[in-house]
Amino acid sequence: MASLTVENLSVVYGQAIEAVNGVTMNVEEGRMTALLGANGAGKSTVLKAISGILEFEHGRIEAGRILLGDRPLGGMRAHARARAGVMHVREGRHILGPMTVEENIDVAGFAAGRRTRAQTRAIRERIYGYFPVLGERRRGTAGYLSGGEQQMLAIGRALAAEPRLVLVDEASLGLAPMIAEQIFEILARINEETGLTILIVEQNVGLALRHADQVYILENGRVAREGPPSRIGTREEISARYLGGVDQQAKAV
Ligand code: ATP
Repeated sequence: MASLTVENLSVVYGQAIEAVNGVTMNVEEGRMTALLGANGAGKSTVLKAISGILEFEHGRIEAGRILLGDRPLGGMRAHARARAGVMHVREGRHILGPMTVEENIDVAGFAAGRRTRAQTRAIRERIYGYFPVLGERRRGTAGYLSGGEQQMLAIGRALAAEPRLVLVDEASLGLAPMIAEQIFEILARINEETGLTILIVEQNVGLALRHADQVYILENGRVAREGPPSRIGTREEISARYLGGVDQQAKAV
């Protein structure tokens, strides 16, 4: 597993739009860190800068460094970063809809270089252990899964690559509060049992405060506040001050 260091990161899109402006974060090895903030605060951009997919959106790192452990990621293409152990679960549940659940997992493992049957079987069973519903639906078409199950599969696909760092963008978006809570409980369990380093982006403040070890709040592309959940502020205050009161899912839990 690996720590992640983001140093003084600034990102622009096109020629002018400054999305991230001098962000510094220390994502500790084996911990779950949450990045909170309103729409447009720059959260997804930070994740894209880390995984290297910024370039596909005409985004550019203007300043700063990103290190996985002590290895600088700058200059590495997205696929090389994936091979180095950085997996990005993008917003919108990216799965292979026409394929079965199991094929989705196998393809992800294969893309990560897993070749033997024994390896393939072992990783499948590990993922089904964390997400039993995926095991039950293993022969089912992925596109017919519920939203929550698709999110679980998207996370499962990232795990199939046996990453060192997983970036999860708005896993709770559009899900029933109970399902979102369940996904976060599983992420916390994976984090605890395997020591996988996890960085999540969230708008659901309650979920993040309940499950993360460390929280960063972004505002207009800058870190406005950081600290452990016990010290960073209450859900109500963070929600009102930094997210314009948008935290309905957390209120419902
Ligand atoms: P959300 O919760 O809405 O996803 P966010 O905090 O993840 O918000 P980003 O998506 O990182 O925010 O966006 C930060 C800023 O960069 C916004 O002003 C957004 O409009 C702009 N932006 C994001 N992606 C692009 C892009 N591909 N091209 C141009 N501008 C972009």
